[in-house]
Amino acid sequence: MTERTFSILKPDATERNLTGKINAVIEDAGLRIVAQRRIRMTEEQAKTFYEVHKERPFYGELVGQMTSAPVVVQVLEGENAVAKYREIMGATNPEQAAEGTIRKLFAKNVGENSVHGSDSQDNAKLEIAQFFTEDQIVG
Ligand code: ADP
Ligand code: MG
Repeated sequence: MTERTFSILKPDATERNLTGKINAVIEDAGLRIVAQRRIRMTEEQAKTFYEVHKERPFYGELVGQMTSAPVVVQVLEGENAVAKYREIMGATNPEQAAEGTIRKLFAKNVGENSVHGSDSQDNAKLEIAQFFTEDQIVG
């Protein structure tokens, strides 16, 4: 089924000029980038976005990381886009990520792991709506 997922190219990726290389992995996997914008995430946006992790010990570090440099927010579209993107992202910790995945190829460590991808269709819808209006998404 064709669906959409939400992606972020994180500060560690933009800082190292990796946005093109990561987009190439995304497109080679058959996912279409149907919306994309480079933004500086505010502390409020980052806190809201990662609210589910607010009790975790790394929450403060995570919010600090996400606001430390520009990010690229994206909407990806394709067959089973949510699961497909999670697959090509690789495990959260790059040391555990499979060969050829974005995190294996590019991530620095478990915190600075280059990309975010929605973990369910419901979350994808909520996350997309936090950063894009429907008219900004051109499928
Ligand atoms: P994922 O991004 O793979 O869905 P989680 O939802 O578990 O992973 O965590 C959200 C983000 O929080 C991760 O991508 C990573 O940037 C950060 N994070 C997760 N676990 C840790 C950790 N143990 N130490 C530092 N940062 C972490
Ligand atoms: Mg997650």
